Amino acid sequence: MPTARSETGDPFLLTPGPLTTSPTVKRAMVHDWGSRDATFVRFNREVLEAITEIAGGAGTHVTVGMQGSGTFAVEAMLTNFVPRDGKVVILVNGAYGKRAQRICEIAGRANLVLETPEDTPPDLAALSAVLAGDPAVTHVFAVHCETTSGIQNPIAEIGRIVAKAGRRFLVDSMSAFGALPIDAREVAYDALAASSNKCLEGVPGMGFIVCRKEALVATKGNATTLVLDLHDQWQAMEKTGQWRFTPPIQVIVALHQAIQEYKAEGGQPGRLARYAGNARILLDGMRALGFRPLLSDNLQAPIIMTFHMPADPRFEFQRFYDGLKERGYVIYPGKLTVADSFRIGCIGRLEALHMRGVLGAIREMLAEMGVAHGAPAAA
Ligand SMILES: *Cc1c(COP(=O)(O)O)cnc(C)c1O
Repeated sequence: MPTARSETGDPFLLTPGPLTTSPTVKRAMVHDWGSRDATFVRFNREVLEAITEIAGGAGTHVTVGMQGSGTFAVEAMLTNFVPRDGKVVILVNGAYGKRAQRICEIAGRANLVLETPEDTPPDLAALSAVLAGDPAVTHVFAVHCETTSGIQNPIAEIGRIVAKAGRRFLVDSMSAFGALPIDAREVAYDALAASSNKCLEGVPGMGFIVCRKEALVATKGNATTLVLDLHDQWQAMEKTGQWRFTPPIQVIVALHQAIQEYKAEGGQPGRLARYAGNARILLDGMRALGFRPLLSDNLQAPIIMTFHMPADPRFEFQRFYDGLKERGYVIYPGKLTVADSFRIGCIGRLEALHMRGVLGAIREMLAEMGVAHGAPAAA
């Protein structure tokens, strides 16, 4: 099989970010721009407004950008929206929920973790019981698609429970926003965090928080650090159109281009359709080779898929990984505690042909290692 390469000669990234971007997104970055450049200032405003629009929050919500990776945005969201005397229930079924708890611990925000295994959705009855029984709880935090396993958490249902109990909802929609539906007119959140380099298909370097305006106004004075002060970041942007500190200019300009391409693809439904097609090909193809996905199809988000390690002792993951990379496809090791596994993502500038390509490469690697099929040990 010939080595697969992107237009710029790179292997394809079947990872949950950074991911493969379009040649036009990459090309948008080859200029120098001053932070007060009028075109850049306009692009910046258009990017933030477009994100609010994509979120379904025009008029009610505002998007605040945050320099850094996605975690910077999650930390900014939690530490600003949960006040010093607040308490947040954190729904955990993977590494990103655990990271949210760590953020709250460091910032000294009271929290209560409701944890389920990585292949299991949150326990909604337990959530309702906690909200009914603990009047100190002010907020609930949930992860939309837990990228650890690829599980799609029932974000709208959680939102309804939180709203009915009169509490505030904070969402880490990092690996879902832009592809899986979450509309601010239907899911009543105070804030949602995501980043430039996942389903919007930009490059890494900028997080953002879509905030309900009234709730954002009320965060004034909550910040625990200067750089992650969302209220201040927002106010400076409103007054001057500028970032408080050096903006990730090339990242923003690339995201501006990526959002044009997002709209041209038909926005959220269009992007979801492509990712769902990718996921289908990958899941069917992997099953045909004997691999077993961790999640049942009804829990699986079309973002990243986790597969059990094959039982055949001739299967060596490092050799498998290296062989796939040589053939032009970078996959992702597992990060699970419930099962020995590896992951393959299907987001980014990837289409059916890339999914068929990686399946071909996997078939070759199995043959090279003398592994007859990918079936895991019987459970
Ligand atoms: C990618 C991701 C993040 C942010 O991770 P960074 O490495 O900081 O960009 C947060 N939450 C989820 C669910 C993610 O997939």
